[in-house]
Amino acid sequence: MERQNKYKCEECGHICEPVDILEAKHPFIDDEKVMGCPECREIDSLQKMCEVDGCNKVASCGTPASGGYLICCGEHSEKYGRRNK
Ligand SMILES: [Zn+2]
Ligand SMILES: [Zn+2]
Repeated sequence: MERQNKYKCEECGHICEPVDILEAKHPFIDDEKVMGCPECREIDSLQKMCEVDGCNKVASCGTPASGGYLICCGEHSEKYGRRNK
């Protein structure tokens, strides 16, 4: 399974990689950062996407999988999750 590391903007639907995300110091809290969409400039609108390559769903859960912890959508959690029993 190939993995991707992408974020999707709730506001405009733009999909980007971590390097494209705008980052700024939080105006009120020291040592905190806010993340912004490079497309529409909305703040904190970015959602982590399912890490399974090619999947365009927003990640809703995570599961231990082969190759390490996988952050993914419900569907892929079913598919790749290792059931510990
Ligand atoms: Zn956006
Ligand atoms: Zn998925």
